[in-house]
This record gives sequence, C-alpha cells and structure tokens, in this order.
Amino acid sequence: MYHSILVPVDISDPEFTSQVIAHVEAQANITDVAHVHFLTVIPTFPYYASLGLAYSGEAPDQEQIKNEALLKLSELIAKFDIPEDRVKKHITSGSPKDEILRVADVVKADLIVIASHRPGIMTYLLGSNAAAVVRHAKCSVLVVR
Ligand code: ADP
Repeated sequence: MYHSILVPVDISDPEFTSQVIAHVEAQANITDVAHVHFLTVIPTFPYYASLGLAYSGEAPDQEQIKNEALLKLSELIAKFDIPEDRVKKHITSGSPKDEILRVADVVKADLIVIASHRPGIMTYLLGSNAAAVVRHAKCSVLVVR
C-alpha cells in the first residue's frame, strides 16, 4: 500500500518508540517495496542558551552528538522486523516538527507514523510535534495512542 513511510523517532525516550513498532511493521510489510525512513532530529540549542544564559561550558561537538544519535537510532531500529535493505536512517538538526515535515517532502512520504505523546505526560492528547505534523503534513499520518 504505502511506498515511503516516515517514522520520526525521539531517541531520548525509547519507550515512546516501542508504541509504534507493531504499527510500522504492519504497514511496511504489506508489500516488499515499502521503504521505511527513520528520522531523529537533534534539537538545536534554545535561543537563551545562545546568549550564554543556560550553559557555561563549551558547546558540545556537533559531529559527536550526531554519531551518538545515529548509534541510539540504530539500536532502536534493530527492534523492528523490517528487511535492512528497505530501511533508511536520517539524522538532522533543528526544530523536530519542521524537520519531520521537511524530510517527509524529501523522501516523498505517503505515510508518517508517529506516537501521540510521551507515555508519562497525560495532560495533552497530542504532543506539540505530533499536533503540528497532523495539521501540516501533505500525506496520511498514523498517530499511535
Ligand atoms: P511530547 O510533547 O509528549 O514529547 P511530541 O509531540 O514531542 O510529544 O512527540 C510525539 C512524536 O513526535 C514522537 O513519538 C516522535 O515520533 C516525534 N518526535 C518528537 N521529538 C522528536 C525528535 N527530536 N526527532 C524525531 N521525532 C520526534
């Protein structure tokens, strides 16, 4: 059914990811041509940090952060039962919601699978990134609760 499935993953909360595994596998394995694009966005420093108000140490090495993110993302992807040749990994930085929407365009996603919010946070039915993706995506979005 779907050919290009985008799965944005917040690596800081692996429990989050476990919610979507069965749904992604089900959609990805309907045909053997679907590609699954896993995306982790490294949030950029907040503005106040750039003014030196929050961090006094040296700015962390971006390349090192990226490599660690890739390692964590790969560990999470290993939990998904999807053939390796149909899996692609993407690490970018910026605002998670903007990057999810941008990469969805780049990979021509026809489905985005996203968890609705952090399991412990029950105040909102949709987190801010999930809400923005649902509102602005040009393709179908599966929100897992
Ligand atoms: P909450 O505010 O409860 O953390 P979010 O809306 O931020 O909820 O997260 C919902 C979903 O958005 C996550 O399951 C994930 O799919 C995606 N997401 C959030 N942060 C990131 C990130 N940094 N990189 C990639 N995807 C993310």
